[in-house]
Amino acid sequence: MSRNPLPKLPGWVSRPPELTPELNVLEGGGPAGPDISILVDPANDVAYKMIGGAYGVLGAEVLGQYVPRALDPQRWGIYVREAGVAWLCSRVATQIYRYPKLQDDLPSRLARGVAAHHYVHLAVEVAVTATRGHTSYLDLLAEHAPRHEPSEELLAELLFRSEVVLGLEPETRRATEAAVDGVMRQTPEARSAHAGHEEPTVVDLVNAGLSLNMTLSDFRFRDADRPVPQYLVLEPHLPDLVASAIRKSLLG
Ligand SMILES: [Zn+2]
Repeated sequence: MSRNPLPKLPGWVSRPPELTPELNVLEGGGPAGPDISILVDPANDVAYKMIGGAYGVLGAEVLGQYVPRALDPQRWGIYVREAGVAWLCSRVATQIYRYPKLQDDLPSRLARGVAAHHYVHLAVEVAVTATRGHTSYLDLLAEHAPRHEPSEELLAELLFRSEVVLGLEPETRRATEAAVDGVMRQTPEARSAHAGHEEPTVVDLVNAGLSLNMTLSDFRFRDADRPVPQYLVLEPHLPDLVASAIRKSLLG
């Protein structure tokens, strides 16, 4: 049986990154959070240079990525970038300085949020593949390059935010939501005609846009019924202090 050639994919999806220890954002992590001052230090400008400018164009696709199973059956899964977490910390931490307990947990929370975003792409690939065949998700990626289908991205952003604020006390939650919203306002999704919609409405948009019949639970990382391959992307350009703070926090 001959295989069709792969469609032309956005650059960030072309291959899994190097240097990727396994990650478990729901259970892993170090015993204590890092000194958050390291992450808001000017040394962290490297993360800003690596992430800041591209975020407004690519949104969460620069904070991590989902490598589709159809693209790489061995190394598919969710990849969270060290620089992505460092950059998010530097954006959010300065706005929640009144909540020191939250700062301890911040890198883990933000990494979980990035993973929750990319789990949406995983869930869509599973659903699309079941009805339309092995490489159908790659066709969709090529069609919507440089990103994913717009309502799929919008849902992924809403679930990123839900995951970051999960379980916080009301006052802390409001402050964190405000900080995260400030960051997310830079994404292409924030300019979408459907921005401001709630999760269930956006699930309907995804189903309509991609001819699927999925529920909100199908998109939730925490509701996954099988282990999800996850990796931390180590980045040699990040200053040692910043990188080790992130690694200690996420890998233990
Ligand atoms: Zn995305």
